Amino acid sequence: MHNRFCVKVQCLHQMTGSFFLFTVCFPNGKMEKFAFECGRFDETQKEKNEFFPLNPEECKFLVITHAHDDHLSRVPLFVKHGFNGKIYATATTCKFANFVLYNNSHLYAREQEDYYVEPLYNDLDVEKSMKHFIACPYRRVIKPTKNISFILYENGHIPGACLVYLVVSYPGEKDIVILFTGDYHYKNPLFAVPPLPEVVTKNDISLLITEATYGNTNSYDISQRAKLIQELSLYLLEGKTVIIPAFALARSSTCIYLISKAQKAGILPFVPIWLDSYSAKAFHKMFAYDNIGLSISSRDLLPSNLKTISSPSIRNKILQDRNAKIIISSAGFGDKGSVTQHIKNGITRDDVVIFYCSGYLAPNSIGIKLQNAKKGEKIVFQGKEFEVKCDFAITSELSAHAKKDEVFDHIYSPCSYTHSFLTTHGEYEVCESLASSISNAFSKPASVIHPNVCYTIDSSGIIQSDNISIY
Ligand SMILES: [Zn+2]
Repeated sequence: MHNRFCVKVQCLHQMTGSFFLFTVCFPNGKMEKFAFECGRFDETQKEKNEFFPLNPEECKFLVITHAHDDHLSRVPLFVKHGFNGKIYATATTCKFANFVLYNNSHLYAREQEDYYVEPLYNDLDVEKSMKHFIACPYRRVIKPTKNISFILYENGHIPGACLVYLVVSYPGEKDIVILFTGDYHYKNPLFAVPPLPEVVTKNDISLLITEATYGNTNSYDISQRAKLIQELSLYLLEGKTVIIPAFALARSSTCIYLISKAQKAGILPFVPIWLDSYSAKAFHKMFAYDNIGLSISSRDLLPSNLKTISSPSIRNKILQDRNAKIIISSAGFGDKGSVTQHIKNGITRDDVVIFYCSGYLAPNSIGIKLQNAKKGEKIVFQGKEFEVKCDFAITSELSAHAKKDEVFDHIYSPCSYTHSFLTTHGEYEVCESLASSISNAFSKPASVIHPNVCYTIDSSGIIQSDNISIY
């Protein structure tokens, strides 16, 4: 019997809830399934969280590219539903995963107590799933099965993030090679990111699956170039309090590092930096004290003017205080967690600036409302009306995703033997625009991954796409 040697690729999601299923069809008729990512869907589509496109027992192994919620947070559910294979990730991702998943199960337990919501998983499920994790070094060949191997490469998205270079082989057949970017940046202020080696860039790549967050934005686009330190300096010199709503994992520590460096260099007033939120503080501790591959000294992460808000009474004192200062607090877009208290207090004050360090703001988030509001206008936040008196600022300078021209320069162009491309993880129009830019530039097939399409590839790229119904 000789069947066509191919890999079928399916993806469930457009933005959050990352999950890529690969089914290898070998010439001898055997099949092997494995998956990349196991992320959680955002609040607006959480009903999709329970669903996986296969029986988890059939999945041989899982690779997680980094520890963000939308790439990792359904792992305990996958294990609970019968997955019994290994979960490969870098050592740093494994370390972060332990914190992220237990933190999730604690939040679920609290939700269950307060609102009787059935939790997606509990501490015991997390404990079981952590036993499946295998910490992998970068640039080492990992061979989960006889015919499947992969190598993880450095990625500047966040510490521990990786690109996956996957090779599926069979005697007498040409290798099928897939390069998977995960969420990608070619650089990071906290650690060095070496470029992809020639064994990757000079090899035939059957399929390149690429993220598309900034698929239609270039780094030289002027509107994106507000600079954190310059703007901060102006506001602080006016005596203002700057509230920075930042993602707990990596973004808050990056802000602290850049601010403390600028303060040491004397280009930013030496005002106190207050760090609030349970997870931001926990991650910052790991950044400062654990070995997570950073190339900066921990002294740069622990300036003498960094203070943590450790109790509601300290937070109250800070909320009342009128002196210039910086408050870094999560969660990301400002709608959850301790930052909501700072925002509620700050909106109505003309001595406050709410400064977002995220180029993207989720629709309906308080971030978007503040961005669109004029001073004196009223906005509703958490059921209450507020008159906007504060200033608003935003910069994409610290974004953890490379812009379109940067991904071209660092991945697409160097990998000149790529046969086909699929774009994912972005607004649909952005994924589409990136796909057409790629096909125009290289005259190679490039399209958006549709959740209800199964792509069949062989060593020469995509050979077939079939409509399937997942939901
Ligand atoms: Zn990410």
